[in-house]
Amino acid sequence: MTRAFVALGGNLGDTHAILRQALDDLAALPSTRLLARSRFYRTPPWGLREQPPFLNAAAELETALAPHELLDALLDIERAAGRVREGERWGPRTLDLDLLHMEGVTLRDERLTLPHPRIGERAFVLLPLAELAPELELPGQGRVDALLAAADAAGCVVEP
Ligand code: ATP
Ligand code: CA
Ligand code: CA
Repeated sequence: MTRAFVALGGNLGDTHAILRQALDDLAALPSTRLLARSRFYRTPPWGLREQPPFLNAAAELETALAPHELLDALLDIERAAGRVREGERWGPRTLDLDLLHMEGVTLRDERLTLPHPRIGERAFVLLPLAELAPELELPGQGRVDALLAAADAAGCVVEP
C-alpha cells in the first residue's frame, strides 16, 4: 500500500456538493482507503484571473493502485462530475483532481509527473495539504510547511 495525496478543486456548479461527491468517489476506489481530508478553502483563481473563485481541498489516500491507474481513476471521477476538457488551460472547471504525490515515487512521462511540479507555487494546494502532512518532503521541491511559509496565501479563506 502506498500513501498518496490528491488535490481537489473546482469553480463551476455547486462546488461544495461536487467536492463532497469527489471525496466519496475517492473513498470508493478499488484497493484504496481515504485516510483524511482537509477543510475546504475558497481561493482566488490562478493562471487565468477572469473566472470565479475556486473551492479547494486535499485528500490523503492509501492505495494499492499503480500511479497511472490512480491517475486514470481521478480522470474518471472528473468526467463523472461533468468536467469537459476544452477551452484554455487553467480555465473554469467543475472538478480538477491532481495527483500531488505518491510516497516513494518520482516519475515523469507524457501523462504523469510526480510529484506534481507546481505544488510549491500554489497556496491553494499547500494550505489544505499542510493540514494533512506538514512534514511531508516533496522530492525536488521541499517540505510542505516550508513551501507554505514562502507562499502567497492572500485571499485564501477556510469555508464554513
Ligand atoms: P495543472 O497541471 O497546472 O494543475 P490542470 O490541472 O488544469 O493544470 P489538466 O488539464 O487538468 O491540467 O491536466 C492536463 C494533463 O496533466 C492530464 O491529462 C494529465 O495527463 C497530466 N498530468 C501530469 N501530471 C499529473 C499529475 N501529477 N496529476 C494530474 N494530472 C497530471
Ligand atoms: Ca490542476
Ligand atoms: Ca488536473
